Amino acid sequence: MKRVVVVGAGPAGTVVAARLAAGGIREVIVIDEKPPWEKPCGGGLTYKAYRSFPLLEHSAPHKAIRQALLSTDGGHVALLRLDRPIRIYSRAVLNRLLLEKAIESGAEFIQARVTAVEACPSGWRVRTARLSLDADYCVIATGARNSLRDFGARFRPCDLMYALGYYLEREQQQIDIRFLAGVRGYIWVFPRVDHVAVGICGKGLAAPELRQILHGFLREKGWSWKEGRFYAHPIPALEVDGWRRNRYGGRLWVTVGDAAGLVDPITGEGIYYALRSGQLAAEALLDETVDRESKTTRYEQLLEQAFLPELEFASRIASRVFLGSLLGAPVPQRMIQLIRYSQRFRQIVRDLFAGMQPYSSLKARLLRSLSRTIQEALVSVLFHRVSLEEEQA
Ligand SMILES: Cc1cc2nc3c(=O)[nH]c(=O)nc-3n(C[C@H](O)[C@H](O)[C@H](O)COP(=O)(O)OP(=O)(O)OC[C@H]3O[C@@H](n4cnc5c(N)ncnc54)[C@H](O)[C@@H]3O)c2cc1C
Repeated sequence: MKRVVVVGAGPAGTVVAARLAAGGIREVIVIDEKPPWEKPCGGGLTYKAYRSFPLLEHSAPHKAIRQALLSTDGGHVALLRLDRPIRIYSRAVLNRLLLEKAIESGAEFIQARVTAVEACPSGWRVRTARLSLDADYCVIATGARNSLRDFGARFRPCDLMYALGYYLEREQQQIDIRFLAGVRGYIWVFPRVDHVAVGICGKGLAAPELRQILHGFLREKGWSWKEGRFYAHPIPALEVDGWRRNRYGGRLWVTVGDAAGLVDPITGEGIYYALRSGQLAAEALLDETVDRESKTTRYEQLLEQAFLPELEFASRIASRVFLGSLLGAPVPQRMIQLIRYSQRFRQIVRDLFAGMQPYSSLKARLLRSLSRTIQEALVSVLFHRVSLEEEQA
C-alpha cells in the first residue's frame, strides 16, 4: 500500500495515521474539516486509557481528579476517593497533541471537508471542494456525525444517545455524577484546567427535556449557565442487536472510533475505544501476512479479541444499571448506599472508574463479595459507622 487516506483527525484518525506513517506506509494523508478543535466531550480519560497510551502519560495540560461525588436526584450522596485519578483534557489540547504526533511520525494533514469517497480502479478517489486524491485504502474516522453514508456504522435512532451541556468558567476539585430517576443516562461535571465541562446524556430523551433537567441541576448548584458556552452532540450507544448488524469495514476501507459505534453504551466513554480501534486498524493494515482485500476481516478479528464482546455485554445491562431495581430501590440509589457503607463495594466502584473492572465479570465479583459487603453495610448502619468518604461529602 502506497497511499492511505484517513478521513477525520479526532483521536481515532490521528492514532491510525501516526501508526501507519511510523509503520512504513509511504503516504498517509489525514483530512479534517477543522483544525484541532473543542469537540463536544467531557474529555475524561480513565486509568485504563492513559496507561495504554504512553503519549498521554505526562504530556499536555490536564486535570487529574481524585474524587467523585455521586448523587441521585432523590438526595442520596456519596463521595468516593479514586485511587487511580481520572485525567480530564480539553479536547482541543488532546486533539492537537495527537495530530502533532501523527505529523511527527510522517503523516500529512490537510484541512478540508471530505464531500465524497468514490471507488476508482486503484482503490478510492477522495473528494473535497478543491482536491481530488487517489488512495489505495481509506480509513473512515469521522465520528458520530459521519456524513459519508456508504461507510461506517448505520445508526438507528435507538443506537444513539443525545448529549449536551456547557463549558463554564468555574473551578471544583471533584467530578460530579448525578443519576436521574427514570433516565438512562446521567449528568456530569468534569473539572478541566481552567473551566468545567458540565453535561447530560440520556437515551430516548429529546434535547429540550435534557436541557431542562440540566438547568435544574445547575440551579441546585447555584451555577448560572447564561455565560457558558453551549455544546451538543450525539454519542453512539448501540443496542444489543446493533453490534451484530454493525459495519467495521468493507472492500479496501475500515472505520474506527465513533464512526464505527465503538463507545461504552453505559458511560459514553469513547476516547479509549477511538484510540484502541485506531491502533488495531493500523495493526491490520500493516500486517504483511494479510493481503489488501482481507485487511477488514483481520481488523474485525482484532476488535473481537480486544473489546467487542465487552461492549455488547454493556449494551445488555445498560438499562438495568440506570433503570433497574435492587432490593426494592433503584440500582443507582443502592449503589450509592453501598459505596457509603462498604469498603469492599467502594473498591469495586473505584475499579469501574479506573476502567479496570470488566462488566462481564462484574456480577461474579459482586457475588463473591456479597456476604462481606452486606456484613460491612450492616455493621456501618447498625453502629452508625459511616465511612470517611461520607463525612467529607
Ligand atoms: C458530550 C459528550 C461527552 C463525552 N465525554 C467523554 C468523556 O469524558 N470521555 C470519553 O472517553 N469519551 C467521551 N465522549 C465520547 C468521545 O467524545 C468520542 O468517543 C471520541 O471523540 C471519538 O473519537 P473519534 O476520533 O472517533 O471521533 P471525533 O472525535 O468525533 O472526530 C471525528 C473528526 O472527523 C471530522 N470529520 C467528520 N466528518 C468529516 C468530513 N466529511 N470531512 C473531514 N473531516 C470530517 C470531525 O471534524 C472530527 O474532528 C463524549 C461524547 C460527547 C458527545
